[in-house]
Amino acid sequence: MADTLPTFFVSHGAPTLALDPGATGAFWQRLAAELPRPEAVLCISAHWTTVEPEVSAAARNETIHDFYGFPEPLYRIAYPAPGAPALAARVAELLGDGGVATRIERARGLDHGAWVPLRSMYPKADVPALQLSVQPQRDATWHRRLGAALAPLRSEGVLILASGGAVHNLRALDWSGEGPAPAWARAFDDWLAATLAEGDTVALLDWRNAAPDARQAQPTTEHFVPLFVALGAAGEGARGERLHQGFTYGSLSMAAFKFARGEGA
Ligand code: ZN
Repeated sequence: MADTLPTFFVSHGAPTLALDPGATGAFWQRLAAELPRPEAVLCISAHWTTVEPEVSAAARNETIHDFYGFPEPLYRIAYPAPGAPALAARVAELLGDGGVATRIERARGLDHGAWVPLRSMYPKADVPALQLSVQPQRDATWHRRLGAALAPLRSEGVLILASGGAVHNLRALDWSGEGPAPAWARAFDDWLAATLAEGDTVALLDWRNAAPDARQAQPTTEHFVPLFVALGAAGEGARGERLHQGFTYGSLSMAAFKFARGEGA
């Protein structure tokens, strides 16, 4: 049996990070190097939102350039990782066992929430990858439940990688450059790190009320709910450790978390 893997949430930043990976790209590279090589990566990306859960089952992933008005070289990047149709069926089965009906989507490839970090982690595009969609109209508890149903995958060689943004308010970004992060962005980022470190699930699930500046930090929730899938998949009583932090464009958090149970978190 394979090692039981921890789960992760990464902030994928702006699409331009694919051209200029910087400190976050170096972190993703190190992260993959330190992990056992997975059989496959199940990515839960903020950029695939559906009313009910869907799992992708393409034999080979198309690269989806789901962003507009960015430099032309970004649209030429291809990340043709193989898909994992058998694993997609397993994901649907596990979610079904958890009482969640899941549609298998055979055509969809990888969106930039998945391929931007994966390209740094596995640059040869030789680790099979698939995606599970999120339901931003549903809450943290729902997404944690999806994660809990997927927990067995951790001992089946599957790396569960959630991808979103720990602080993500596009209207508040400072596109001019690298000014200091505003106080509200730091407050939310630090609350998240501290609350995950404590494993305070009650506060986490009630983040809209419990966290400082929650509405400013996450005015829409699609970049945040993937975190709860990773948290749920790490098992009851899991804690999160902040492995990487920083901000770009002022308030856009690049924080990454590892989730595991007990002292190893
Ligand atoms: Zn995004």
